[in-house]
Amino acid sequence: MKLTHDTHTVHTKHPFVIARGGSSEWKLVRVRLVDRDGVEGWGEAAPNRFYGETTETVIAALAKLAPVVERVLGEDPFALENLESEMNTAIRLNGSAKSAISAAAHDLVGKRLNVPVYRLWGLDPFKAPLSSFTIGIPSTEKELVQRVEEAESYPVLKVKLGSDRDAEIIRAVRRAAPTKVLRVDANAAWTTKHALRMIDMLVEYGIEFVEQPLPAHDLDGLRFVRERSPLPIVADESCIVASDVAKLAGVVDGINIKLAKCGGLREALRMIATARAHGMIVMCGCMIESSLGISAAAHFASLLDHADFDGAALLADDPYEGATIERGQIRIPNAPGLGVTRKAMAVV
Ligand code: MG
Repeated sequence: MKLTHDTHTVHTKHPFVIARGGSSEWKLVRVRLVDRDGVEGWGEAAPNRFYGETTETVIAALAKLAPVVERVLGEDPFALENLESEMNTAIRLNGSAKSAISAAAHDLVGKRLNVPVYRLWGLDPFKAPLSSFTIGIPSTEKELVQRVEEAESYPVLKVKLGSDRDAEIIRAVRRAAPTKVLRVDANAAWTTKHALRMIDMLVEYGIEFVEQPLPAHDLDGLRFVRERSPLPIVADESCIVASDVAKLAGVVDGINIKLAKCGGLREALRMIATARAHGMIVMCGCMIESSLGISAAAHFASLLDHADFDGAALLADDPYEGATIERGQIRIPNAPGLGVTRKAMAVV
């Protein structure tokens, strides 16, 4: 078993801006596992500075993890559970690097068995919820209306808030999309008092739920807001791995899983099981990722209440083909493993 990696730079069609800032260019890392029969598994790391990762830290983590991965999968290429556990023993955090390896190992197992990953798990991909499409924080109202018009085919929109123009943004989106399901994400930008004021207003606009209104560590604040909020509160930045889910039970209504945070597909499944045990809403989101990254999460989409898998749909130059979210419907190729191929014409 051999682990190698390469990097690819992708660009969003428009600058993607959230409460913490934004960018148009994203450098992703592809992990390749090749077994002794020449079968290949692929996974993608989408590092995010907020969680302490950059392209460079991913590459450094891969160098540390490679001997562990090659040993564990060299002994047994099907040892997916043991793989994640040994990676977690080898290094802490580095969720996107570990997730890329986990995804590549699942891809490889699926290909060896000639089944899609969702089949390994016994899941029905047609039970997946619709995926939302994200409207980033615009610089002008005209730009905002254009973004909403471009998202015309998506029935569910996730609106990024957390600027000083939140009220005007939500009003403009609702006017431009009067019948769509709208959810909002403040990306930890509000105070408790401001969150309650905002939620009062959001109720008037028929918003479905509010993601991460307060800073990640402020669990007392989240509980305070949740107890007074008519809208469900979903934790994203506060919820990294399965052990966080138990701490958030009774504090928020739901969790937003991301592979780049949690460090692997098995850990994501564990987060889903933990949240279900506590009667919580389960959502899965993504970073700016190519179809390679999105496809890994799409295979467990049928276990979710809400999905936000638009990372690749926001791109102008996705180098891969895999899962898609046409008109919000999550579609997975009926092909072995993750079902991802490199686009013939892509320059990566
Ligand atoms: Mg979020």
